[in-house]
Amino acid sequence: MESRTILIYSDELACAEYSAAHPFKPLRAKIFMELLHRYYNLQEDHFRIMRPEPLDEEILYLFHSRPYIELLKKAGRGEFDPEMFRAGLGNDENPVFKGMFDLALTIAGGTHGGAMALVQGEADTVFDPISGLHHAKRDQASGFCYVNDVACAIADLVRKGFRVASVDIDVHHGDGVQEAFYATDRVLTISLHESAATLFPGTGFETEIGVGAGRGYNVNVPFRAGADDEVYLSAFEAVVPPLLDRFRPDIVFAEIGADSHREDHLANLNLTSNGYTRVVSRIKALSPLMLAMGGGGYNVYRTAALWAAAWSALTGMRMEDKFTGLVGGMMYGPEAKAGSIEEAPFVLQGQEKELCANEAARVVRYIRETVFPIHAI
Ligand SMILES: [Zn+2]
Repeated sequence: MESRTILIYSDELACAEYSAAHPFKPLRAKIFMELLHRYYNLQEDHFRIMRPEPLDEEILYLFHSRPYIELLKKAGRGEFDPEMFRAGLGNDENPVFKGMFDLALTIAGGTHGGAMALVQGEADTVFDPISGLHHAKRDQASGFCYVNDVACAIADLVRKGFRVASVDIDVHHGDGVQEAFYATDRVLTISLHESAATLFPGTGFETEIGVGAGRGYNVNVPFRAGADDEVYLSAFEAVVPPLLDRFRPDIVFAEIGADSHREDHLANLNLTSNGYTRVVSRIKALSPLMLAMGGGGYNVYRTAALWAAAWSALTGMRMEDKFTGLVGGMMYGPEAKAGSIEEAPFVLQGQEKELCANEAARVVRYIRETVFPIHAI
């Protein structure tokens, strides 16, 4: 069988970090690799590993401003400039450290390289665990993101004539990607996330639907804090398949951040591996070519486990535990911290469930009434 899946990975990148205390941990990718080896009978004809290479700097300027990139370079050399504060650099969220520009460029190069491999017919699925830095703005760092690898790679594909859809299931609104393509109908941007009422970055209302030619090509599905697998899946099914069917993208960029999980300490949704893997497999089924990007996920072990569970949805490979037979409900091994890789379902009950379901139904209704007609759905 010819290899149709590419995994973007290097040990070097997985061992990088902003600082020891910073919650963004590339190390999740290394743990993910260990879980892949444990749970899948990996053979070379199943997939190939591609090392992320630094992005061609000119591609940065398809989205970012030159003065902002100059600041990033200075920061990466250890130089100080008072303008950095205005650009969101040098706070606890987006610390300044030596080598940060090269790190950002390599992460962006992984995403771009993955996208190129897809459109050049080398694969039909790519997973890049350390990517999907969807908060970075044109001239500002935000939410642990310095360079918006997603926006840069999509902008390059659009320039080459491709139709691109972005489906973002990270628990945070994909505000930087929204900003990049808010006024164009060449990119369909869909973000499902926890409501701005309770979570960073405080945007992503359903009413943000794009402007000018882009009106109707930016779609937000905010969830009330607490929403579970059922609520999430039902809104996803109502909104995403009809829009993707109609838009007919050549390639789908999927930011599959694992911070929507109920054990993530930076957010408040209640997804389990059941809902998460179901959503990833639905996106895969709807995508002619799929670039999956790791995005957020601040429970390090759980995030790696969710990505490992999603690997079967992405590749069609069967998951089994080489040490204890088929995956069951057992707790074992080094990932006992996170529990088993597959989880029991969790269903929200009572008034909270009703509030979450009603809010999701209201948002879906709004999108059906306001966005769907623009696409003649
Ligand atoms: Zn996130």
